[in-house]
Amino acid sequence: MAEKTLFQKIADGEIPSDMVYQDAHCIAFRDIQPQAPVHILIVPRKPIPSLDDLTAEDQDLVGHLFLCARQIAAAEGLSRGYRTVFNCGEHGQQTVPHLHLHLIGGRPLRWPPG
Ligand code: 5GP
Repeated sequence: MAEKTLFQKIADGEIPSDMVYQDAHCIAFRDIQPQAPVHILIVPRKPIPSLDDLTAEDQDLVGHLFLCARQIAAAEGLSRGYRTVFNCGEHGQQTVPHLHLHLIGGRPLRWPPG
C-alpha cells in the first residue's frame, strides 16, 4: 500500500491539526503557516496528488470542495470576500502532493499574486 500523504495523516488524526470542518468526502483545517487572518486548507479524503491528476470521476468531488469553501467562508465571517486557490506543480508552488484548496481571507488580498 502507498505511504500515506501528510494530509491523510492529518485526516486520520496521526498529525494534530486545527480542524474546522469534516464530512465523508473532505476535511478542512487551518494552515500551519497562515498567509492571512483566515487560511484554511480544504482537502479531499481521496489522495489525489494534484489538479493535473483529476479525472471525470472527480467532477462532483471538486464541486463539493468549492461548496465547502463557501460554507466555511461564511462560518469564518468572510463577508467582504476571500480567495480560493489550487496550487499545481512546480511553477504553481505546490509543496504538498495531495490536492488541497486554499481558502484565504480576512484582509484585502493583492493581485496579481507573486
Ligand atoms: P501548497 O504549497 O502545496 O499549495 O500548500 C501546502 C500548505 O500546507 C502550505 O500553505 C503549508 O503551510 C501547509 N502545511 C504544510 N504542512 C502542514 C502541516 O503539517 N499542518 C498544517 N496545518 N498545514 C501544513
